[in-house]
Amino acid sequence: MSTSILYNIFGFRGYHITRATRKSGRIVVYIEPRRKQLCCSSCGSCHVSTAGFVERRLRSVPVGQCPTWLAITIPRLLCSDCGLTRQPRLKVAAARVCYTRAFARLVIDLASHMTLCAVAKWLGVGWDLVKSIVKSHLRRKFARPRLKDVRRIAIDEIHLGRRFKFCTIVLDLDSGAVVYVGEGRNAAALDAFWPRLQASGARIVAVATDMAKAYVSAARHRLPKAAHVLDRFHVIKLFNQTLDELRRAEIRHARGERRKLLLGTKWILLKRAKNLDHDRNEHERLRLALQANLNLMKAYYLGEELNQFWMQPSKEIAEMVLNDWYALAMASGIGRVTRFAKKLMSFRESLLGWYDEAISTGPLESVNGRIRLLQRRAYGYRDREFLALRIYAMHESIYA
Ligand SMILES: [Zn+2]
Repeated sequence: MSTSILYNIFGFRGYHITRATRKSGRIVVYIEPRRKQLCCSSCGSCHVSTAGFVERRLRSVPVGQCPTWLAITIPRLLCSDCGLTRQPRLKVAAARVCYTRAFARLVIDLASHMTLCAVAKWLGVGWDLVKSIVKSHLRRKFARPRLKDVRRIAIDEIHLGRRFKFCTIVLDLDSGAVVYVGEGRNAAALDAFWPRLQASGARIVAVATDMAKAYVSAARHRLPKAAHVLDRFHVIKLFNQTLDELRRAEIRHARGERRKLLLGTKWILLKRAKNLDHDRNEHERLRLALQANLNLMKAYYLGEELNQFWMQPSKEIAEMVLNDWYALAMASGIGRVTRFAKKLMSFRESLLGWYDEAISTGPLESVNGRIRLLQRRAYGYRDREFLALRIYAMHESIYA
């Protein structure tokens, strides 16, 4: 068979076929390296003579539907220049593996379209082999995500299920790539990230986090020159929790008709006013519930006002809006609301950071969803490193 056909089918040059067999649906192709291309693997000299042979069997790309092996007769070469006896280096496969480079490329390509299980089944090999091929590919490509050009990041925790619990994710907000996955959700989870970031020479201009002390202080301490932006959705979520706790407390104290009006209003209260459903009479139910309870009404409108903070034309005006809001919240006299307001004001600079860089941890929510999908599709992500590598690879849309 000509070299170019061999090259096209099996992905290599410099060998010739001595024979091929087909038994019980399996093909074995016997090949030998071409003599004139043999050289010493130690010094590169081509003054070599053959001193015996060994055979190595490698899993190759299938021919049609048939699983195919290459049986390579490898000469042991005695070098007259350096005096060593060595096997020549094979172009067709890496050292110490049982498959050819072309087979590895096929596995990696298939794994970008289907699950590892499906790849293993289709090729008739073990899941472990497929995983180890994909893992070493991912390691080569993603073990050290490039940080040099990263400018704006978001840091947040994500729950990876019972086995791995929480981990901390750093997202490059401009490229959408996860650039770091750390174990746990405290400041120590980021310990390995900072030296790498520093070594990369990246100039981070802004970082978004939620209100978790660990992330806030790490961001402020490690990136003093970057704008720290408190994520608006986490702020609103916390306010909504406060509002709901207040609603439940008021229900406990209310009686009769007033109590009835408050029941079942959770989602109506937490919805933005513009999203209320006319057909379900939600406007009227909201109006009645608020009318029945003054504290709830005050807190509800404070929530509406709080949303306005992120919609101001300038930082100066936003600062005034924030001050006004704080004064109103404190004047409400509702314990839950004043506690929230005090907490919020302790993040004043980070809230105003929105007007330096309008970023949020929002994009991490979708990363979160994609990681869940990754975990659901792949049975037995028991290997934390592998899971982390797949998370890094996600933005290149490799299938789980
Ligand atoms: Zn040599």
